[in-house]
Amino acid sequence: MTSTNTDPATVSPASRLEAIRARISAAARDAGRRAEEISLIAVSKTFEADAIAPLLDAGQRCFGENRVQEAAGKWPHLRERYSGIELHLIGPLQSNKLNDALDLFDVLHTLDRAKLAEALVKARDAGKRLPRLFLQVNTGEEPQKAGVPPGDVDRFLERCRNDWKLEIEGLMCIPPVTEEPALHFALLEKIARRNGLSKLSMGMSADFETAIRLGATHVRVGSALFGTRG
Ligand SMILES: *Cc1c(COP(=O)(O)O)cnc(C)c1O
Repeated sequence: MTSTNTDPATVSPASRLEAIRARISAAARDAGRRAEEISLIAVSKTFEADAIAPLLDAGQRCFGENRVQEAAGKWPHLRERYSGIELHLIGPLQSNKLNDALDLFDVLHTLDRAKLAEALVKARDAGKRLPRLFLQVNTGEEPQKAGVPPGDVDRFLERCRNDWKLEIEGLMCIPPVTEEPALHFALLEKIARRNGLSKLSMGMSADFETAIRLGATHVRVGSALFGTRG
């Protein structure tokens, strides 16, 4: 019997990338969508530049990090070596890290509170270029997790538009680990649709195909590309 070896530990980064891209294409096709509608964000958190470079060599340009400080330690050097990198912040952003984050990231997936929106406005007024913005939604209403509760999203988006003049591109969620992710993806899609938002950041290594079926435009894939995090 022939089988494709997809164990991240033993396969080259380029073939892992190729395998994930093929799965994204297949999931898109099954959902009647085009693969080009879906951006693969390679989540490189905890991995050093040495582990990231092979994916850059293989053509990947879109990466996600969850800590500002860690990203600041490796991405400026990688940007000197590779052009066209698009960096996404997918972890929580503390206001005191805002300026560092603005220097580094092209897209912020975790706008989740008025205080951060106001800090972004202040930075913009001071001449800073803002990243593209996604609102994080706490679809599982978990107390320990960041994100706007589902019931508050419409109002928060209204404030973004009217009070802060912040353009929100889409919504992001991280479903509770113990629940069926499809329910959360469907909820996120519904909230986005009724608010006229076209972008959905949802789906990780274990569930990105489900997310694509339910409308994901940005999937955030870490361990399936880089291997298990230490
Ligand atoms: C780590 C992380 C991912 C990637 O998770 P994997 O299961 O390794 O694919 C995606 N999204 C967020 C917000 C993360 O913190």
